[in-house]
Amino acid sequence: MSFLELERVEKTYPDGTQAVRGIDLSIGASELVVLLGPSGCGKTTTLRMIAGLELATRGSIRLDGQDVTRARPAARDIGFVFQFYALYPHLSVAENIAFPLRCAGLGRRERAERVARVAGRLGIAEFLARAPRELSGGDQQRVSLARAMVRAPKLYLMDEPLGTLDAQKRLELRELVRAQQLELGVATVYVTHDQEEAQSLADRIVVMRAGKILQAGSPREVYQNPQTLFVARFVGSPGMNLIAGSLRRGAAGLEFQPEGARAPLALERAPGVGSMVLGLRPEFLRFDPGGPIAGRVVSGEFLGDARVYHVESEIGRLVVRARADLRFAPGSPVRLALDGSRLRWFDPRTEEAVA
Ligand code: ATP
Repeated sequence: MSFLELERVEKTYPDGTQAVRGIDLSIGASELVVLLGPSGCGKTTTLRMIAGLELATRGSIRLDGQDVTRARPAARDIGFVFQFYALYPHLSVAENIAFPLRCAGLGRRERAERVARVAGRLGIAEFLARAPRELSGGDQQRVSLARAMVRAPKLYLMDEPLGTLDAQKRLELRELVRAQQLELGVATVYVTHDQEEAQSLADRIVVMRAGKILQAGSPREVYQNPQTLFVARFVGSPGMNLIAGSLRRGAAGLEFQPEGARAPLALERAPGVGSMVLGLRPEFLRFDPGGPIAGRVVSGEFLGDARVYHVESEIGRLVVRARADLRFAPGSPVRLALDGSRLRWFDPRTEEAVA
C-alpha cells in the first residue's frame, strides 16, 4: 500500500493561476521521490499542499492511512527543508537542531545525544555552540538538514535544499541527504529543476510540466524511455539528439530520411512509416570512418571520463559522447554510425513516444 497518496490534486490560486492541474501520485513507505521540472511547473505548490501550507482546490491527500487534505501542517508530522536556511538567528546551532525535539517534549539528555549524533553525521559537530550567522552558507544548510533529520517524521519534504550551494558542496550534501534518508527510511519528496540531481538521488523521478505529471519512473526508465519529446530533452545532460524526418519503405527495406539529409539511414526495424522524430542518446552515436552520416566537428568538451563532441552533420547538429582518448580538432571531417537497437521514435504531432 502506498504511504502517501495524492489523488486528482489541483491547485488554483486566488488570482486564477492553475498551478497544479490534477495529479495522481503514490509514494511507498521509505521511497525517495524527486519532483523534477522547469521553473513554474507546480513542484513547490505540490509540496506545499502535501505539507499543508497551501490547501488543495480539489482532490485528496492521504498520509499513512489518514486523509490529511485539510489537516493543519502541525498535525501532519512532516519535516520540511527549504532552499533558504530559515534558521533561528538568536539560537545556537545546537539549539536550532534541537528545536523540533524540544517541541516534541524530549528531555535534555536525549536531545543532546540526538543532536550530537546528527551533527556528527552532517559534519557540523564543531559548530554546535556557534550562532548560525557565523557559518558559511553550506554549513548553514547542513544545520537546516540536521534540524529536519534529527528526528524521523512520517515524511520529509525538501524544496531545492541544495539550490544555493556551489557544485562541490551540492555533491557532498546530496550524498549525505541520501545516506541519512536511507538510514532513517523516511519517505521523502524532493523538489529540484536539476535533472542530474534527480538522477543521482531518486528511487523514482516524477517529471512535471505545466501543472501535470508527464512521466514517473526509475531514473533509468525515464532516461532510457522518455515518453515525450519534452522528457527526452529535459532528462540527460546533454539531452537526447532529436532528428526530424520520415520513415519509409525503400527498395532496400526500411529507411529513415532525416529532413535536409542527402542520404537516408537504413534501419532494421521501425514502428511504422510517416513523419517521425528519431531520438538517440549521445552515447549511442559513435565515430566510425565507415559510418553512414557525414559531418564536421564543431567543438568538443573534455569531461574526464569521456569527451562530448558537437558535430554539424548532414542530418543536423548532433551531440556525440566518445571515449576520452578520442580527439578531434574543431573542423575535422568525421563519419558517424549509430546503434540501431537504441533508437527511440516520437510522433511529431503529439510529441509522444511511439512504441
Ligand atoms: P520554481 O522552481 O520556480 O519554484 P515550481 O515548479 O516550484 O517553480 P510553483 O512555485 O509551484 O512552481 O508555481 C507554479 C505556478 O503557480 C507558477 O506559475 C507560479 O507563478 C504560480 N504561483 C505560485 N505561487 C502562487 C501564488 N501564491 N499566487 C498565484 N500564483 C502562484
